[in-house]
Amino acid sequence: MTGEDRFARERLVPGWDPDTFAGATAVVVGLGALGNEAAKNLALAGIGRLVLCDPDTVETTNLSRSVLFGPDDVGRPKTEAAAEALRRLSATVVVEPRVRDLAAGVGLGELAAADVVLGCLDSLRSRMRLLGRCALVEAPLVDGATGPWEGEIRLRLDTQEACYGCTLTAHQRSSADVPWSCLDDTTAGPLGTSIGTTALVAAWMTQAALRSVLGTPPPYRMLRIESLTGRTAPVAMTRARDCPHHRPIQGDITPCALNHRATAGELTAVLPGGEPLTWSQFPLPVRCRACQGYAETVGDRAVADTPFSRCDQCGRLRRPRFSNRLRDAAPDARLTELGVPPQEILPVRQPRGEYTWHQLSS
Ligand SMILES: [Zn+2]
Ligand SMILES: [Zn+2]
Repeated sequence: MTGEDRFARERLVPGWDPDTFAGATAVVVGLGALGNEAAKNLALAGIGRLVLCDPDTVETTNLSRSVLFGPDDVGRPKTEAAAEALRRLSATVVVEPRVRDLAAGVGLGELAAADVVLGCLDSLRSRMRLLGRCALVEAPLVDGATGPWEGEIRLRLDTQEACYGCTLTAHQRSSADVPWSCLDDTTAGPLGTSIGTTALVAAWMTQAALRSVLGTPPPYRMLRIESLTGRTAPVAMTRARDCPHHRPIQGDITPCALNHRATAGELTAVLPGGEPLTWSQFPLPVRCRACQGYAETVGDRAVADTPFSRCDQCGRLRRPRFSNRLRDAAPDARLTELGVPPQEILPVRQPRGEYTWHQLSS
């Protein structure tokens, strides 16, 4: 088959350009069923570089909807299993699997440099966090979600356009991490889902993402997809004045010679004066009041979302402490252990309340 162009048929599609895709980077956040389908499509279409981010491992219940996972992958990180399968689909695709926090596992500098970001997340909280990070650096986002017989995709290509956050109340924007579908936003526990609806939603996401990479995005910004009735139509969104996701970082972003593997002490030493901050809170070491045991909680991201943790030594509940001030971290704690991703853009608060911005190197 040497000499034959793998994309000969695609070159016949008006407006399609495999060569543009070959030079493009797409970030896929969430490698569940939707992320599997979307990543598969992007690799087949010839996207040159895929960054995959998901902290979870493959479970047996994923296998019925995930083209990139097989039974032998159960227990492996989703992104690593997916990367292997994607490299089998396309010999030329560069895949970077990343076992990190869903919304904050890809640095702001990486989001800014990506040609498109695909959000394949199943909780409102993660979707809003990713939207917020994309808004900070004006990264084009194609977000999708599925329910039992329906789904939706939402595009946020320009920070001045109405966005997902505009369609929510302030309370919903700050909502807890609940599973969510476009029909039912209060259901507890996992929602029913199946491959047909997932594949439909991912196909719409793929078209929107690829058209966006080509510089000819679709005219709609939200699409509602009903797999039962066959009705699929754009939905109009209105910009809400109190939506916070329309204010990108203002001012120069200064490159920093250090990367995410540097320590908190090394970084604070090279940053200019002011208060260096992280975007996500990190846990601080705490002393147990009951037994005076001293527990090292730095790097334990699992407790960051719970109000209490248990003492390692006496088992009593204690209140963990969190901070987003880098000077509060142990000086030898690595930034990556504090939840700081590669190429993150970190704010330094200056005495009069303004910020300077500093991007870690890769
Ligand atoms: Zn908005
Ligand atoms: Zn204790």
